[in-house]
Amino acid sequence: MGLFWKRKEPDIISIFNAPEPAPEVKPEPKPEPTTVVEEQDIEAGFYQRFKRAVSSTRENLAERIGDVVKGKKVIDAQTLDELEEILIGADIGVTTVMEVIEKVRKQVDRSAIHDIDELKRNIKQELLNILQVSVQKSGAVASETTVPDNIKPYVMMVVGVNGVGKTTTIGKLAHRIKQDNYDVLICAADTFRAAAGEQLAIWAERTGVPLIQQKPGTDPSAVLFDSLKSAKSRNADVLIVDTAGRLHNKSNLMQELEKMRRVASREVDGAPHEVLLVIDAVTGQNGLEQARQFARAVPVTGIALTKLDGTAKGGIVVAIAKELGLPIRYVGIGERMDDLIPFDANQYVNSIFE
Ligand code: GDP
Ligand code: MG
Repeated sequence: MGLFWKRKEPDIISIFNAPEPAPEVKPEPKPEPTTVVEEQDIEAGFYQRFKRAVSSTRENLAERIGDVVKGKKVIDAQTLDELEEILIGADIGVTTVMEVIEKVRKQVDRSAIHDIDELKRNIKQELLNILQVSVQKSGAVASETTVPDNIKPYVMMVVGVNGVGKTTTIGKLAHRIKQDNYDVLICAADTFRAAAGEQLAIWAERTGVPLIQQKPGTDPSAVLFDSLKSAKSRNADVLIVDTAGRLHNKSNLMQELEKMRRVASREVDGAPHEVLLVIDAVTGQNGLEQARQFARAVPVTGIALTKLDGTAKGGIVVAIAKELGLPIRYVGIGERMDDLIPFDANQYVNSIFE
């Protein structure tokens, strides 16, 4: 089994104070497990691609920090001001940056930071703390690993405004999950726009994943109901649900999503198990505001951040974690099928500071 998606008892559960693990269930026979070496290879591949995707952010952030501090012996007020500017420029968010710099300033005053390397290490650590703390604060991370694998299908709802990369992310997710030998189904519940269904159909064909679809205008809950039935009858592992992305009529959207949630929970225990909000990294602080509105309307459990490859302002990752207080589950690093990787806070800070 691959590394991208797995339904098994996770190691991380205890850290996040998740509920008691479900009682032991007999695992179904799955195809060949990957060896440790293979897993390491896959992991290394993810890391290399992730590093490449954040290279503009790395230049914009770490290299500029390097320029500012180059040749300096002491860390003076001006250096800190310049650092502040660089961090804000990378979209980390003004409040967050002020907090980080304030902490650093105090340490410099107390002579706890002596040199530039320590300074960089300190900033890196502060950013990592923000990413980790916000995940802990969000409580149990909804993920496939928190749902016993006798509960089928694992229902994943994908929400977000139009254009952020929802359809693409669903296609990539379906592809990766299928590659890990799980049986996946896609539900086209964005019946609002005909184009939404057509685009999903292209991804379904490309990935060889079945799509449950009805004519435009059909009640999304009806399509979901059909999809759940279908997924159950074929004993599918996962159902990925596309939803409408309009924000202009929030109360309708909320009612619609609430109805879908009810339908899902009636058919499958605990469904939807995961509600992924898709955010476009390129839209930066604007996207964050959009996301905030969305998160108020829908019980989001995690973030998929797309187009991280298309921005030098990858600091938005930190702003999202801090300001939305939601875990980033996946990042999109391109338009191809396998350009979606699980987010890892350590990997992120190492990639932009190395
Ligand atoms: P939707 O309206 O939310 O469903 O958005 P789409 O999935 O149609 O995506 C909008 C555009 O963003 C498409 O051109 C995608 O190819 C592109 N896109 C989505 N994710 C990524 C990503 O991670 N990186 C890049 N570079 N482009 C992406
Ligand atoms: Mg779409």
